[in-house]
This record gives sequence, C-alpha cells and structure tokens, in this order.
Amino acid sequence: MAVLSTLAALLLQQLLGKLIHPTPFILFFGAVMLSGWWGGGGPGLLSVGLSLLAVDYYFLPPFHSFKFQEDVGASLILFAAIATAITRLNVKLRQTNAERTELLLRERQARLDAEAERARLRELFIHAPAHVALFHGPDHIYTLSNPLNDEALGHRQVLGKPLREAIPEAADQGFVALLDRVYATGEPFHAQEMPVKISLQDGTEREFFISFVYQPTRNARGQIDGVATFGFDVTDLVRARTEHRRVEEELRRAEANARFLSEASAVLASSLDYESTLSNVARLAVPMLADWCVIDLAQPDGTLQRVATVCASPEDSERALQVQQLRTTTGGLSSQSPILLAFQQGHSFLIPILTPEFLRESSQTEEFAQVLASARPLSFIAAPLVVRGRSLGVLSFVTSRSGRRYTEVELELLEELARRAALSVENALLYRSAQEAIRLRDEFLSIASHELKTPLTPLSLKLQMLGREARRQPESPFRKAVEDYITVGSRQVKKLSELVSDLLDVARIAGGRLRLEFEEMDLGVLTREVTGRHEPEAARVGSTLVLEAPESVLGTWDRLRLEQVITNLVDNAIKYGAGKPIRIQLETDMGHSILRVKDEGIGIAPENLSRIFERFERAVSERHYGGLGLGLYITRTIVEAMGGRIQVDSTPGQGATFTVVLPRKPREEAPSNPSA
Ligand code: ADP
Repeated sequence: MAVLSTLAALLLQQLLGKLIHPTPFILFFGAVMLSGWWGGGGPGLLSVGLSLLAVDYYFLPPFHSFKFQEDVGASLILFAAIATAITRLNVKLRQTNAERTELLLRERQARLDAEAERARLRELFIHAPAHVALFHGPDHIYTLSNPLNDEALGHRQVLGKPLREAIPEAADQGFVALLDRVYATGEPFHAQEMPVKISLQDGTEREFFISFVYQPTRNARGQIDGVATFGFDVTDLVRARTEHRRVEEELRRAEANARFLSEASAVLASSLDYESTLSNVARLAVPMLADWCVIDLAQPDGTLQRVATVCASPEDSERALQVQQLRTTTGGLSSQSPILLAFQQGHSFLIPILTPEFLRESSQTEEFAQVLASARPLSFIAAPLVVRGRSLGVLSFVTSRSGRRYTEVELELLEELARRAALSVENALLYRSAQEAIRLRDEFLSIASHELKTPLTPLSLKLQMLGREARRQPESPFRKAVEDYITVGSRQVKKLSELVSDLLDVARIAGGRLRLEFEEMDLGVLTREVTGRHEPEAARVGSTLVLEAPESVLGTWDRLRLEQVITNLVDNAIKYGAGKPIRIQLETDMGHSILRVKDEGIGIAPENLSRIFERFERAVSERHYGGLGLGLYITRTIVEAMGGRIQVDSTPGQGATFTVVLPRKPREEAPSNPSA
C-alpha cells in the first residue's frame, strides 16, 4: 500500500507537475496519509521514506539524482517531520477506532446478555409454582402477573393498571396499604396464611389463604421503583387443618352429647317419680344446652300442666317463678305457640331466632308476650314427649344470655332427649297404673275372701247340725244317704274354706298384716297329727303316708302357721303324687329342725323350681290340676318369717322333695310382721 500509494503520488505529480510545480510534496502527503491510515505506522513511515526519495529524485534539482541542493533541504526535513506526524496521528486514530469498535461490540454483547437474563428471569416468574406479580411506581402498576396469579384473579386484565383499579377489593382488604408501606419504607413484608377474597366474574366470591412476601424492587440508582410479590396458595393446607379441627370439634361435641344423654338416661332411670326426674333432666340441660328449660306434661283432661321451669342465671329466678306460674293452657299461649303445636302435632319445632313478633303471635295477650320478652329469649326448641304416637308433654329449651343459637345439631340431640324422657314417663305411667291395678286386685281379694268366708262358718255349722239330726233318727230310710251327702259336703266346705283362707292370707301378706304367735311347742306331735288327719284322703287316692319322726321335737314356733305349712306340703304331695307312697321325715340338726315331704309323683321341671314359690305361680295346667298357686307362696312367707328357709329338689316324672329348715328358736330380729 505504501509503495503503491507513493507510486501513485509519483505518477500524479509527474502528470500534474506543471500545475502544482512549486509544491512537489503535496500529493505525497496524500500517499503517506493513505498508507498510514490503511497500513498503520510501518507502511506510513515506508511511504514517508519512499516519498522523500521520489521527490528528491524526480522533482528536486538536480533532477534524476538523489543529490539535492541545500535550499530544499529544509523542505525535505519539514516534509519528513510533517509526514511522520501525520503517520503518528493516523496510528493513534486507528488505535482509537479499533478500541471503539471493540467497546461497541462488548456493549452489544452485554446488552444481549442482559436481555437473555431478563427473559430467563421472566420465564422463571412465569413458570414459578407461586403467585408472582410485579408492581411499578407509587401507584403499584401491574407490570407482570404470572399465569398462576392470573388464574387466582379470575383472569382479569391487570397489566398496565394500578392495583387499586385492577382489583378494587384488594384495597378493602388492606393490600394496597401494605404495598404503600413496602414502597415507602423499603422493608419487605411477610404474611402467613392470610385470607384473601376475590370477586369472580360470575358474581361469586372466592376465598383462599396465601402465605406471601412483598419485596421492594430498586432501579439502577438503588432507588425503590416498585414491589415484587411472591405468594403461595396454602388454602388446601389451611382447609385440611380446619377440617381437622372441625372433625375434632364434632367428635368432642358428640362425646359431650353422648355423655349428656347417658347422664340424662341415668337420671330418668333413677326413679319412677317422673315429675321430679324430668325436673332433674331440665337441671341437667341447663346451662349445658339451654339457658331455660320448661317442661309441660299432659293432664288426663288433655290440657298441659307446667311441671318444671329451670333457668341458668340466678338473676332470672324471679322471672322463672312467673313463667312457672303461667300454666300453659291457661297462661296465655295462643294456638300458634310452638309448645302447643309441638304437643298437638307430635313433632318438634326449632326457632333459631325468636323475634318480638313471633313472641306476640305465640301469646294470647300483650302482657303475656311481655313476660316472655322480658326473659330476652333468643333461640328456641320445643320437643314433644311422644310414645307410640301419643303426646305426653313437651320439653322446651330457650337460650338467652348465653347468646347461643340453636341449629339442627341441637335439635337432634334434644329430640333424642325427649324420646328418652317420653319412654321414661311412659314407663312410670305404666308402672303407676300397674301398681294401681295390683292395689285394686289386693283390695278386691281381701274384700272377696272376707265375703266368701262369712257364709262358710254357718254353712259348716248347719252341716254339723244336720249330721247330729241324722244320727238321732237311726231308723230313717234317708239316714245313710244324708250322712254320705254330709261327708262330701263337709269335705267341699273344708276345701272351700282352705281356699278362702289362702286368699285371706295373701291379702294379709300383701297388706303386711301376717302376724306370728310364737309359743313353745312340739313339732313331732304336730307332724304326726297332720299326717294322721291326711291319711283318709291319701288312701282315697291310693297313696300311703310314711312318717319318720322322733317322738318329740321341741321349739318356739307359731303352731297354727306351722300346721298350715305341713298341711300345704302334704296336700300337694297327695295332689301331685297320687297313687304313690309319700314320706314325711322330721329330724333335728344343730338348733334346726328339718322337715321333708317326699313324693314320687309328676315332679317339677327345673325352669319352674324357683317360680312356684311366688304368688299365683303354677307349673301345671289348669285342666289337670285345680288350685290358686298360693299354697307354696304362703308356705315360703311363713317359713321365712320364722327365720327358716324352704327348697325343692325334683326330677320331672320321679317326684319332688320339699325341705323346710327351721331354727328352733326365733332369731331376735326375726320379723313378726312380714310382708310380701
Ligand atoms: P297349687 O294350688 O297350684 O298347688 P301351690 O303354690 O301349692 O299352688 O303350688 C304351686 C305349683 O307348684 C303347683 O301348681 C305345681 O305346679 C307345683 N307343685 C307344688 N307341689 C308339687 C309337688 N309335690 N309335685 C309337683 N308339683 C308341685
């Protein structure tokens, strides 16, 4: 380049020499400049040297020689100096240019890098598993909202809008104020499980829980220019825990309810006096389930009678008295009163909020409504006491001071309570009527047996007189027949009077009027007497009586009652062991005398063994054997009243053995006036 440009300068100089004669250097400056610009320092200097030689050789006298005259020396030196300086400048310029190009390249690279970085960061935000949003400036203009965030916001157009405008509800929930604070102070803000409500396009509201951080962003000068928010949706977590708490709470409540019901059941079962047990149940329900509990029970005339009013607060006790005195049917309840409706319709009523209008509608008079209103009732449940479709009364529960509101949950529990209470009331009523029936029966038995007994004594006397009369007329043709009739008649009268005596005894025992007359007596003698008396009857049915007894067994007993015991056992043995031998054994053992009556008759099935000692209990069919089922009951009562005991051993079909064990002296505490 240096050689070419110098040659070009030489040619042009030669061509244009005539025009620019006095300045032979001018074009060579161009060559030097071009070489230096193009080739750098070396070519520039080479062009300077070549130019000096060319100018000297061709254009300075003596021409075509490298010699030069002194007067042009200075020009040559000046050309060399200026050309060198131009070359240096050129070199510098080239360097600077190269550096600038390099710098530009680097800057471009850096910009590309930064853009790639930003894109990557954006990508990261966009795909982050978090709610990411970027706000710019003091008005919190949305500059970024990632898809997760968009979705949470119901896909609204938020970009470019200030938060207050993009999500108006955010301001109401304090989020704009929070952003303001972070923007102003530069301090990040963290929140855990913050509830957030977002209004959706369809008008519904969506609530979720977010844990988030608000982080200030800064510009290149370090000044805050916006806020970045990162949030994590923890709704499922919070809900699961809430759900967990709800389940726990429900469990706790179920336990408390079960406990309450079992306590109430225990109270209800504790006595048959249902008015007082119901009051106790009301006391149990207050204050656990109600501030007031009122119980009304149906009366035989179909009206309701208030039997209990219980209130939680002592301050209400005066008012409770007033409420208690307001007998429901006459106390001013209108036909719209839920108490009356529950009673009449047999199903419960839940009134979550009692309004003054409702109280007025439920009352007959304004005064009555005021009495009700003065207790400040809030919530109400009336649960009828229904058994087999019959309303026995109503349990009413009211809340006031506690502020509690009844729901289906309480309704269910109180309905269950009412069901149990109703059963208990029904049981008590049945028991009462059964007791009444028994009392009437015993009264009837007592009267009937007295009435039956009355004509028996004169009848028996008349038979005896007839016997004497017959004997006085031995020649009469009727004597034999009359005497036979008298025998049968007397036996029937005796039987009848025994039955009537049993009835009388039962009435006595039931009325606690069985009295024992203790005396020194000989059981051996008595047993022999009774056995002897039964011999004809035994013979009549084909049985023999075998007595095994010591001469004398002394003790302190009630003679007549003991006679009754032996008679009953021997009678039964003849009745149920007819045709087979019967053994009557008497022995003594350590202060006791033991009487056994053994037969070989029909026997008793094991399941009936204990039952036959109870009142009216029989183990045979009426068709085959007569009897009232009282003999063994009276026998046991007498034996026990003397401090003894009776038992039976039997194998069905092989006979029965009744054993009576009696202390020979009555125990001090032996009751002299037993009752059933
Ligand atoms: P009853 O008037 O029926 O005989 P009891 O009280 O004397 O009344 O007896 C009750 C029941 O016990 C009888 O109905 C009978 O079934 C049973 N019983 C009593 N004694 C005997 C016996 N010796 N053998 C079999 N069963 C007997």
